[in-house]
Amino acid sequence: MPTSPDRPALIWFRDDLRLDDNPALDAALASGRPLILVFILDEQSDGIRPLGGAARWWLGRSLASLAAALEQKGGRLVLRRGAAGDLLPQLAEDVGADALYWNRRYGSAEIALDTALKATLAARGLTVETFGGNLLHEPWTMKTQSGGPFRVFTPFYRRAMGQPVRTPVRAPAALPFAPAPDSELLRDWALEPSAPDWAGRLRRAWTPGENGARAELSAFIDGGLHGYAEGRDRPDLSSTSRLSPHLRFGELSPHQALAAVRHAEAAGEASSRDAEKFVSEVYWREFSYHLLFHFPDLVRVNFNARFDAFEWTNNPALERAWRRGLTGYPLVDAGMRQLWQTGWMHNRVRMVAASFLIKHGLTDWRRGEDWFWDTLVDADPANNPASWQWVAGSGADAAPYFRIFNPVAQGEKFDPDGDYVRNFVPELAALPNKFIHRPWEAPSDVLRKAGIVLGEHYPRPIVDHAQARQRALERFQRIRGD
Ligand code: FAD
Repeated sequence: MPTSPDRPALIWFRDDLRLDDNPALDAALASGRPLILVFILDEQSDGIRPLGGAARWWLGRSLASLAAALEQKGGRLVLRRGAAGDLLPQLAEDVGADALYWNRRYGSAEIALDTALKATLAARGLTVETFGGNLLHEPWTMKTQSGGPFRVFTPFYRRAMGQPVRTPVRAPAALPFAPAPDSELLRDWALEPSAPDWAGRLRRAWTPGENGARAELSAFIDGGLHGYAEGRDRPDLSSTSRLSPHLRFGELSPHQALAAVRHAEAAGEASSRDAEKFVSEVYWREFSYHLLFHFPDLVRVNFNARFDAFEWTNNPALERAWRRGLTGYPLVDAGMRQLWQTGWMHNRVRMVAASFLIKHGLTDWRRGEDWFWDTLVDADPANNPASWQWVAGSGADAAPYFRIFNPVAQGEKFDPDGDYVRNFVPELAALPNKFIHRPWEAPSDVLRKAGIVLGEHYPRPIVDHAQARQRALERFQRIRGD
C-alpha cells in the first residue's frame, strides 16, 4: 500500500506513559495522520525481564491513568498482551497504518526486539521513526576523549553538561484519533494483586500516572527542593522528590524535571546549590543508562571482573531477616519495611540496607537486586543493577570494598531523632533517642519502660557489626589483587 497522510499512525507506548513532552507522539502529530495509541504487555519476548510485583501494580495504575487522559480527549488506549514482535506488525496491518512511532529503550533485549521490528515493518513499506524520549542524552552520543564509553561518573557528567538538552513541550489540547480497534481489558491483565491484596499502603502512598507525576514535581519544587543538597540524605525528612517511579515509567521526562528545577532557580525560588545537586542526581540516572547500554549484562555480570572470584557464602537466615526488616539493626529494618509497605526506600537507607546484605551477610549482590526488583515501584532496569553493583564494589565508579556502612552510625547521623525508625519500626517507638539505633545497649529498666523485651518484641542484632565488618574485609581482601 502506498503511504498516505490519511492512513493512521501507530504510537507504541512503552516506558513513556505520558502525553506531555513525548517526542514520538509529537512526531506522529506533525505527520498529520490520525492516531492509534497502543500499549503491549510483553512478557514473552526473549530476554525481556518480567516486571516485579510492585512495578506491575504501578504499571496497571499508570495505564489506567493514561487511558483516562486519552478518553477525556475523545480517544482510546489500545491494549494488547503477547510478543510485540508478532502483535505490532499484525495490528499495523489490521488498522491499515502506514507509519509507526516510538521512543527508544536501552536494554539489550529491548533494542534487539525494536531493531528486528523496525526491519520487518520497513520491509513492508511502513515508515518507522524512533526518538530519544526518556534520557537527556542518547548513550551512544556520549564518548570519552578516546571515543569509548564512560566508566566514571564525574567526567561523564562534565561532558554531559556541555551538551544541549531539548526544551520540554506540552501536548496539544486536542489529538486527531483514528477509529480504535478492539482493546483487551486492563482488569483481565491482573496487574494489581487481589488475593491477598497487599497494595493498600501503595495506593495511599502514590498516585501513578501523569497527573500524579505533575503533582509530585510541584510539591517538590515548593517543598523538598529547598535545602535538598543537605536534606536529601535524611530519611526522616521529606526532602527528596519521590519522582523515581514516575521517571521509571516515563510519566515525566527528565527534561520536564530539570526544566522545572531550573525555572525555580532562575526565579530565585531555589538556590543554585540545591538545583545543581538535584540535576546531578538526575545525571546519575543518565549514567546508569549509559552503563546499561554499553555493558548490557550489567544486571547479571560483575562490571569489575575481579569480583567473579569473590566467594559469596550467602546466609539464608540473615537474608530472610533482611527481607522482613528483622535484622536487629533499626535503620536497616526501617528501610526494609518502608520498601515492603510503600514500594520505595530512601536512597541513603538503600545504600545502608544493600551494604548490610552484601557485606554483613556476604550475600551475592544479585540476590538483593532481585528482591528490590520485585518490591520497588521504581524498579529500574538500569538504576537498580548499577546501584547494587556500586554498593558491592563491583560496579562502575563504585564504592571501595572497604566501605562498610555501620548501620548504627548511619542511623545516628542521618536519622538523629529516630523519627524514621519510629515510623517504620513502631515497636521501638518508646525508646529514648539515645538507644533508638542501638536498642541492645539500652539498660534493662529503659527497655522495660519502653515495653520492649529484646528477642521477643524486637530481635537482637543478627550479626555483630564489628565481627561482620572484619570478616567482610578479609574476604574482600582476597580479590583485591594489588
Ligand atoms: P531524588 O533525590 O529526588 O532524585 C531525583 C531523581 O534522580 C530520582 O528520581 C532518580 O531518577 C535519580 N536518582 C537519584 N539518586 C540516584 C542514584 N543514586 N542513582 C541513579 N539515579 C538516581 N533508583 C531507581 O530509580 N530505581 C531503582 O531500581 C533503584 N535501585 C537502587 C538500589 C540501590 C541498592 C541503591 C543504593 C539505589 C537505587 N536507586 C534506584 C537510586 C536511588 O536510590 C533512587 O533513584 C532514589 O532514592 C529515588 O528517590 P527520589 O526520586 O526521591 O530521588
